[in-house]
Amino acid sequence: MIKEKVNRPAYQLKNIILPEWVTEEIPLGMEIEGEEERMAIAIKLSHRQVLEGTGGPFGAIVCELGSGRVIGVGVNQVTNSCWSGAHAEFIAWTMAQEVTGRYDLGRDYAVGLYSSAQPCVSCWGGLFWTGISRLVFAATKRDVEQYAGFDEGPLPSDWDVELTKRGVSVQSGLLRDKAVMALREYARLGGECYNSNSNTGSPRAE
Ligand SMILES: [Zn+2]
Repeated sequence: MIKEKVNRPAYQLKNIILPEWVTEEIPLGMEIEGEEERMAIAIKLSHRQVLEGTGGPFGAIVCELGSGRVIGVGVNQVTNSCWSGAHAEFIAWTMAQEVTGRYDLGRDYAVGLYSSAQPCVSCWGGLFWTGISRLVFAATKRDVEQYAGFDEGPLPSDWDVELTKRGVSVQSGLLRDKAVMALREYARLGGECYNSNSNTGSPRAE
């Protein structure tokens, strides 16, 4: 077996700093009973993003399924952090991995992800190796594309089947109407569309 060495520092990469108001909405460690209540928090984060102008209209939390204890929180930080991967879901599970000290979040107990919107192709791909065993989301991919103008990527039609096959249960559309309101408001206010539909199919000039 390979013995891993402690890394000597060379470069430090992204240092994501979430806006202060996030802790007003949901402090880490709080126990939230019920999936609707957990989803309501993820959606509230997405609305607050729009209100505060702190990034894309998306929010997510990661909870222990049994106790409901929140171990990760995320809001979209693509524009603020200059990192295309800084989606709410990615940040929420990365925080949970830091908090627990485990890359496999499901090692000791079942963990769920509650997201204001359906994961894009990047978050869907990332989800497979997090150890998360339940995904609940509100707005659909189509909602995100139609109401806010984002391109969510070429998600395969059986994306949820692939998750289920690997032990991840999926529920869609919980409190969807409330999540759609944040998307519409973001578009109405002229929020930045960092991966816009209009880019799709237009090869970039070299
Ligand atoms: Zn994403």
